[in-house]
Amino acid sequence: MYKNILVPIDPSHGTKHDDALKMALHLAEDANASITALTVIEPAPSYIGLTDTAADYEKMAADKAMAALRRFVGPGSEVKTVILHGSPGTQIVEYARDHGNDVIVIASHKPGLSDYFLGSTAARVVRHAACCVHVMR
Ligand code: ADP
Repeated sequence: MYKNILVPIDPSHGTKHDDALKMALHLAEDANASITALTVIEPAPSYIGLTDTAADYEKMAADKAMAALRRFVGPGSEVKTVILHGSPGTQIVEYARDHGNDVIVIASHKPGLSDYFLGSTAARVVRHAACCVHVMR
């Protein structure tokens, strides 16, 4: 079964990710697989330059996202946590390719949207990933 599982997490999506992480833990149990939780910080919005530098903003966003990710996976968890910068869909696909992930477990869309909908990041990952993609509905 899968050995190297990637779970992309948008911290603003809340409970959708509980399901994705639970599924990853379940898949990992059978094969003693490793799990990586990944959050991608999108580039600073243009108005940021008025108050702060884009680099300051991105550093602050990364620190906040890492704290949220660690809280989310739980204290002492063996789930590896990674923060990247860029476009989420592209970064998720490239990270999985470069790190030999054999499955990506991803929520279909943000909470509250109807279930036939596939969000833009999820759609990009499904189309472009070189490995299996497990979409949580
Ligand atoms: P929507 O377009 O409805 O917001 P998305 O396709 O962006 O839906 O989100 C679906 C899933 O994609 C999220 O639950 C998460 O797993 C992943 N995702 C989206 N944005 C990010 C991000 N910035 N970092 C990591 N994963 C993300």
